[in-house]
Amino acid sequence: MNPLRTAFRVAALACLSTPVAFSQSASAAVTVVHCPSLFDSAAGKMLGPTTVVISGAKFDKVVPGTESEAGATVVDLTGVTCLPGLIDDHVHLDNQFGENSYAEAAHVNFANLVLRSTLYARRTLMAGFTTVRNVGDTDYDTVALRQEVAAGTVIGPRIFTAGPAISTTGGHADHSNGLSLELQGDPGPLQSIFNGPDEARKVVRLHYKEGADLIKAMPSGGVMDLGTNGSGPQMTEDEIRAIVETAHDYGMKVAVHAHGAEAIRRSVIAGVDSVEHGTFMDDQDIQLMKEHGTFYCPTVYTGQYVAEQARNGAYPATVAAKALAIGPQIMKTVTRAYTGGVKFAYGTDAGVYPHGQNWEDFIYLVKAGLPPAYTLQMATINAARLLGHEDMLGTVAAGKYADLVAVPGNPLDDITVMSKVSFVMKAGVIYKRDGQEVVTQ
Ligand SMILES: [Zn+2]
Repeated sequence: MNPLRTAFRVAALACLSTPVAFSQSASAAVTVVHCPSLFDSAAGKMLGPTTVVISGAKFDKVVPGTESEAGATVVDLTGVTCLPGLIDDHVHLDNQFGENSYAEAAHVNFANLVLRSTLYARRTLMAGFTTVRNVGDTDYDTVALRQEVAAGTVIGPRIFTAGPAISTTGGHADHSNGLSLELQGDPGPLQSIFNGPDEARKVVRLHYKEGADLIKAMPSGGVMDLGTNGSGPQMTEDEIRAIVETAHDYGMKVAVHAHGAEAIRRSVIAGVDSVEHGTFMDDQDIQLMKEHGTFYCPTVYTGQYVAEQARNGAYPATVAAKALAIGPQIMKTVTRAYTGGVKFAYGTDAGVYPHGQNWEDFIYLVKAGLPPAYTLQMATINAARLLGHEDMLGTVAAGKYADLVAVPGNPLDDITVMSKVSFVMKAGVIYKRDGQEVVTQ
């Protein structure tokens, strides 16, 4: 075979072996960051003064005290606590609910949503979230967003995306719900809607083909669609099992949106990787999640937010009724699940509330009784584990991606400082310093 062609094929395969969300950095510039204190997310405790040495896109050395490095750019941070880059495992970057969202669906073009997503991505990064898991988009547009962020043409967090969420006919992700009969049609696998295990497998394979990193399934009703059932089961256990087995064959994890106890039970038994919302989780569900090691992403602030919006008249009557019944319950569930020994990862449902306020869950999780250090672990090491990338993300350690943020004060004493991220570095590039955005392109 032509040696040039062989070399090209080897190079192409080498590129494929790195997940596409991870950008490659050609620069080997060395930066030294002096942190007055650093949150050790693996141990869940605060360290004293620490020197973090970054070479190119990765951490090179993490040493106690204030060290210097010849020829390096030095960043002296004072009066702050450093943390690993934050991770939100439940966002929707191409959507932000507002007063007009339901009416807009009829006249706003897909391209507008895509353009807006670039602003939402930037706001998310500036809030200190250097990585996100996008669990449901409009039409694989966050696959494109992931690629453009990785290529450096759009400023945003590193993205792992599920593409569009998958659902059964009339289910939570069936966007024809509530439309007039003339407009409804009969969405099928190409629109991420399926019925039965065979179609479920096809939908998962279509997602793989389109570049999704994981699968987001909707086995229970939900709040924000125009269907009336907000928490009942909408998939059989066989259907969920078909999704999980197929997704795992392709190296994709499965996140499920589930409010009701029965939908949670079926999902956990079928082997899903995370339960989102989990509002009406009962004692059996808690036990099953503990046994199966299923992660819980509680989206606790969103629960509070939708109930408040419903009281303000922001939603149609069907949605408002569900928001009031479901939203406020999540706080109690969070407390019960934590005491029951369920593993938590940080996932907020950004997009249901305005992007860039991803820190709100820290406040509500602490209000629900979780230790502040655990909430920080949820948004770092635990979130990285749920992504399956704890080898590259989630702690400040040599060899991992140089994602580092800082907040004024100590979040273990006052969790509200998480709303004031003043320094953001992603893959060795500084995007925010002294509370100001740094223009990088
Ligand atoms: Zn969501």
